[in-house]
Amino acid sequence: MKTALVDKNGKILSSHRYPTNPEKGAQRIIDDIVICVEECLDKGEEDAQALGIGVAAQVDHSGVVLTSPNLGWENVPLRETLEQKLKLPAVVTNDVRAASWGEWRFGAGKGVDDLVVVFVGTGVGGGVVSGGRMLEGCSNCAGEIGHTTLIVDGRNCSCPNKGCLEAYVGGWAIAERAQEAVRANPEEGNALISLAGAAEKITAASVSKACHDGDNLSSRLVKETAQFLSSGLVGIVNSFNPCLLVIGGGVIDGLPELIETAEPFIKKRALKVAAKNLKVAKAALGNDAGIVGAAALAQDHLKELV
Ligand SMILES: [Zn+2]
Repeated sequence: MKTALVDKNGKILSSHRYPTNPEKGAQRIIDDIVICVEECLDKGEEDAQALGIGVAAQVDHSGVVLTSPNLGWENVPLRETLEQKLKLPAVVTNDVRAASWGEWRFGAGKGVDDLVVVFVGTGVGGGVVSGGRMLEGCSNCAGEIGHTTLIVDGRNCSCPNKGCLEAYVGGWAIAERAQEAVRANPEEGNALISLAGAAEKITAASVSKACHDGDNLSSRLVKETAQFLSSGLVGIVNSFNPCLLVIGGGVIDGLPELIETAEPFIKKRALKVAAKNLKVAKAALGNDAGIVGAAALAQDHLKELV
């Protein structure tokens, strides 16, 4: 877990890190969060006015963590508990939504009222800002961009659907596709296998490294990934008509060329009117997006309380 004291301009004034041990259970992890916040405030010169939390989970509108496979939590009233313990107004959201807030308020999307942020990491998710508001949806899970169908009855996904965008371009999916390709044609997969050590150890990072080293199989996988991602983004642009599409995440950091391919593809394939004023940009905040975004969300929450 990472905590930071962030000022109104999105600048990190002090920060603190602490390992998360899911096996400890919710109560003790919440105690660790409290310690982590206090440590961080001790290091800073100023007091905090509100607390924003991004957590790898599905979170409802009231700040209850509904499910978190990573933490093993179900129905944990995180916002309420932290407010009581820290005596600060708090707001809890999903970690990817928090990172989208960061890019919107202080990163590549600063000052834009209609934008979509897409993070392509192990999973694929993001946030949609429309008319100056982050869309939340009926049960607060809007922005699950990775789980839109790309191929009917296609590859198995981590969700109940098949053929989702994430099942082709998420880090885990790129690894899976590469491992299958190598098994189907071990000779062609030589470079990838020797880079990763074994077929089952091939990751998305091995694919991007081998591709940049000139490996044919990896280049083909990256080309296909670019097509899948670009096609998915066409649907997003047509659905939400953003002025700006911000793309980031671990897979993009390894393969920034995916953005270069996406832009002309979208301009060609999206509805003319939907893509007319569209700009595409790389996410700007890197690993700080989540922490800075959670603070931006807390800042907005404070304004609502006034
Ligand atoms: Zn899915």
